[in-house]
Amino acid sequence: MPEPILELKGVTKTFGGLTAVNDVSFTVHRGEVFGVAGPNGSGKSTLFNCITGIPFGPSGGEITFDGKRIDGMAPHRIFRAGLSRTFQKDAEFPDLTARETVALGGHYGAGIGRQALAQATEAALDLVEFEPSRRDMATADLSVYGKKQLMIASALVSKPAILMLDEPASGLTRPEIAALDGLLCQVNAAGVTILIIEHVLGLLLSVSQRLLVLNQGSVLTSGDPREVIRDDRVVEAYLGSAAA
Ligand code: ADP
Ligand code: MG
Repeated sequence: MPEPILELKGVTKTFGGLTAVNDVSFTVHRGEVFGVAGPNGSGKSTLFNCITGIPFGPSGGEITFDGKRIDGMAPHRIFRAGLSRTFQKDAEFPDLTARETVALGGHYGAGIGRQALAQATEAALDLVEFEPSRRDMATADLSVYGKKQLMIASALVSKPAILMLDEPASGLTRPEIAALDGLLCQVNAAGVTILIIEHVLGLLLSVSQRLLVLNQGSVLTSGDPREVIRDDRVVEAYLGSAAA
């Protein structure tokens, strides 16, 4: 029996007259990779913002994580409860080393001891296969893929139950996307539930066990990824956005 870890019921987010997320409901199961697709502007990032409370929670609806209501909770408390995320535009700290950048991910809202933080940092870097010999390099000198590894490792330092990734493949080459695919499978195999937004459909189809498609803030369809992308409405939503 799949065990629910994150449940959204009727989640809505409005900005003035615009409904960016409209009555969205779905359940993520513990241990799975759950994908979120949809054309540009369909509300994917806003949905992540609602879940993590950054900067605010939803305007309406309920979000339950691990049996506890988290909508309306302060972002640092949601983070401490075990939800960690990356952003579409990742923060860069060119003057910090790779190790220092990743360690920053453990500081947000949490009172973790020095030694525990150092251990968690190395474990997160190990999990994303970031070579030990490069861990004291300046972030500025890393490749785009190296920076992605750090972004994911930063989100893993807090040992989250759910890792939320907003378009992690952006800016990567095909071989790098293949490497990211392997990396995400490895993180998931280590017991981390993953919620991933991705524009690169090939990656999304490869890593996701279930897929939800948003269009204009509403759920268009969800289910088995291979069936979902064959749905005429999904094809139309994507082609419509490509033509726009
Ligand atoms: P996606 O991530 O799917 O590309 P977004 O969630 O970023 O889409 O945006 C969904 C819609 O909400 C867009 O129309 C966008 O302009 C709007 N939107 C997002 N954030 C804000 C905001 N802070 N204020 C006003 N409108 C916003
Ligand atoms: Mg977005």
